[in-house]
Amino acid sequence: MSYNINKKGYYGEFGGAFIPEMLYPNVEELRQNYLKVMAEPDFQKEFNQLLKDYVGRPSPLYFAKRLSEKYNTKIYLKREDLNHTGAHKINNTIGQILMAKRLGKHRIIAETGAGQHGVATATVCALMGLECIVYMGEIDIARQAPNVARMKMLGATVVPATSGSKTLKDATNEAIRDWINNPVDTHYIIGSVVGPHPYPDMVARFQAIVSEEIKWQLQEHEGTENPDYVVACVGGGSNAAGAYYHFLDDTNVNLIAVEAAGLGVDSGESAATSVLGREGIIHGSKTLLMQTNDGQITEPYSISAGLDYPGVGPMHAHLYKSGRAEFISITDDDAMTAGLELCKLEGIIPAIESSHALAVFEKKQFKPNDIAVVSLSGRGDKDLETYINHFKL
Ligand SMILES: *Cc1c(COP(=O)(O)O)cnc(C)c1O
Repeated sequence: MSYNINKKGYYGEFGGAFIPEMLYPNVEELRQNYLKVMAEPDFQKEFNQLLKDYVGRPSPLYFAKRLSEKYNTKIYLKREDLNHTGAHKINNTIGQILMAKRLGKHRIIAETGAGQHGVATATVCALMGLECIVYMGEIDIARQAPNVARMKMLGATVVPATSGSKTLKDATNEAIRDWINNPVDTHYIIGSVVGPHPYPDMVARFQAIVSEEIKWQLQEHEGTENPDYVVACVGGGSNAAGAYYHFLDDTNVNLIAVEAAGLGVDSGESAATSVLGREGIIHGSKTLLMQTNDGQITEPYSISAGLDYPGVGPMHAHLYKSGRAEFISITDDDAMTAGLELCKLEGIIPAIESSHALAVFEKKQFKPNDIAVVSLSGRGDKDLETYINHFKL
């Protein structure tokens, strides 16, 4: 069984490119060129140089001693929270901005929910001096003011999406509409391993630097390249895809995908796609998504904005269906508790998304000699207000 993408752009039965005819030229241009461009020595050199000097890679692989003692197992944290802009998303936006330049695009568009991907995109556009337009739901603009301000400071234009529920999916629709109208000079930077082929594969390859580093770093620490477990939270699935990538075919390495249960998987307020989702098409790919009986996409809920997505990328749909990855869902409360625990035990304030991954150690028993690597996808600065309200700090 293969866990990676096939020539037609599918992971098992999931993936593909289900797009309006008018988008075909844009997506096809990218599909024909992305692997070729990524393989160019010149591209690799510039990508790796920026990851080192601008993002601050390699990110440390940190042995969390006190956390390990508490759970009586060996826990390593892959510190994506220490990247420039505070999360793994920058790995992908650096890759895509270089791709856009090679394809002769000088106008960049993106969609954003809570604003994290919008900020990562605005950052690389400033870095490269390219025009940046970020679509964002009107409601999200109102509740994510600091990220809106960041994007503006970085020179981006933030365009409110005023249709539908005025949130992420409406912003995505606006971005797609823009791309259809500007097929020649515009590149659409998608923020996770979602969207039509080749996006999920391209984003996974840009994030694959994470597991590439884990291998040599774990070799230094433990004398082995392979952990027993890799644990990552899954919104669309890009930090997980990056952390899993070089272990996909090594079935001795157990993969754990952590989804947001919200108030509980049966509460009606959840984002646990593997439990609640069925096959369907979202953002141009066939995958698992939460939907009503007549196929309307259900509004997801999670305390963490980055996990508040009604689907998962096609790679993760396949990892679930094939049984390659174990899916665990974690409630808001359990994630918050795990986040605060990391603060107290290790002096690290994690993003609430990452706190979901940390919560597996309360849920699942690991053996004393097991090595578990957790993707610490981001830092908690952006979530302070939520932590304050939750714990009445
Ligand atoms: C956006 C985000 C996520 C979720 O996105 P994935 O594509 O699933 O990785 C997780 N953690 C942080 C810190 C994020 O900003």
